[in-house]
Amino acid sequence: MNHERSRDLYGRALSVLSGGVNSSVRATRPYPFFVERGDGGHVIDADGNRYVDYVMGYGPLLYGHDAPEPVQAAVQKYASAGPMYGAPTEIEVEHAEFVARHVPSVEMIRFVNSGTEATVSAVRLARGATGRNKIVIMQGGYHGAQESTLVEGGPENPHPSTSGIPESFAEHTLPVPFNDEEAVAEVFEEHGDDIAGVLVEPILANMGIVAPVDGYHETLRDLCDEHGSLLIFDEVITGFRVGGLQCAQGKFGVTPDLTTFGKIIGGGFPVGAIGGRAELIEQFSPSGDVFQSGTFSGHPVTMAAGHEYLKYAAENDVYEHVNRLGEKLRRGIADICEDQAPEYTVVGSDSMFKTVFTREGPADLDGQCEAGCQQRADCPRFDYCPKTGADVAKADTERWERIFWQEMKDQGVFLTANQFESQFVCYAHTDEDIEETLEAYKEAL
Ligand code: PLP
Repeated sequence: MNHERSRDLYGRALSVLSGGVNSSVRATRPYPFFVERGDGGHVIDADGNRYVDYVMGYGPLLYGHDAPEPVQAAVQKYASAGPMYGAPTEIEVEHAEFVARHVPSVEMIRFVNSGTEATVSAVRLARGATGRNKIVIMQGGYHGAQESTLVEGGPENPHPSTSGIPESFAEHTLPVPFNDEEAVAEVFEEHGDDIAGVLVEPILANMGIVAPVDGYHETLRDLCDEHGSLLIFDEVITGFRVGGLQCAQGKFGVTPDLTTFGKIIGGGFPVGAIGGRAELIEQFSPSGDVFQSGTFSGHPVTMAAGHEYLKYAAENDVYEHVNRLGEKLRRGIADICEDQAPEYTVVGSDSMFKTVFTREGPADLDGQCEAGCQQRADCPRFDYCPKTGADVAKADTERWERIFWQEMKDQGVFLTANQFESQFVCYAHTDEDIEETLEAYKEAL
């Protein structure tokens, strides 16, 4: 593949954009390809190369690069009628009503502009509503570029995971291993009176894709109830992707107090949201005393695109299609791994998938791998699926990033370059795309 133009553009970008990009994950080695345009489930780069796209903008693009006609019409209508006012519009109410109608935890909502802004506001709201300071997070989880959650270590030694955050900010964050009921119970025993909330992705989707073991979210729910803390599900990735219109909380049957959203609910435009019980969401100013505000929040174009996006999913076989292809892809990859690289495992749920380059090989699987089964405990490969940050830390990231990802790109398949970031099937993908991808996997592995 020729990448001359991308290389030149990256050279220009390096002198005016930090690292040549506007989001660190895009700075792939040796240089990223620059995108010219999207086409359904594909992207075409500045040199005319075409790729099957599973990055999908890191999650928002449920339909791929051709939004359904009602979405496009709504975007044009609202863009040419304003596009924004600094005063409320009916479309914000309609979008909020739709989300509240479908998502179990949501009675009221406030829209913001990114997933990060949503989790920042949710943490502030949890602290304001409970009068407490501490937030429990999961090691290996991700909640955006915010001070309270860019924290690593354990509950005894939390410290910032990046420079630029004072050590003292991390004091109020308690990172625990995901799927470890004892560890979180201990933290509640010690700090229960000062825990404002537990912030957790219902499926951890930023360290590979790690599902909760049976009963884990119920345990979190019980601990929060017992200690007067709030359970906050970060559904920025899983919202309207896992579990269809009810989101992951519907799938797992556990209702959090607060939910954060982003990605899909903006229909491809910048968005975030915090939803929950009315008595909590009303504690935001002006009805309450937890400050929240934003120039672009509830932007009419975003609200219109997001609303038409979700309405289309409600009226068509969108989840059926993407989940079927997701499962087909996971099963196909699992079979290929079993033949060619049994030490690697495929993880995922609904329309999300990732291959984790673990270094510990499984026992004889007897052709029984059901990695497409979303990590059910009865799957013969279950013991080899990562369940905690420590499991994931065994992954061979160099092999993924330096060899496999490059090889897949050269074969026309665009995956997330980081070993731990999820990948997504979209409504525009076809069975042929999946088959082409599986062929590329065979070659690359
Ligand atoms: N929460 C989760 C679970 C995410 O995966 C992300 C981003 O990928 C965020 C929050 C932050 O969202 P944004 O990048 O829109 O700020």
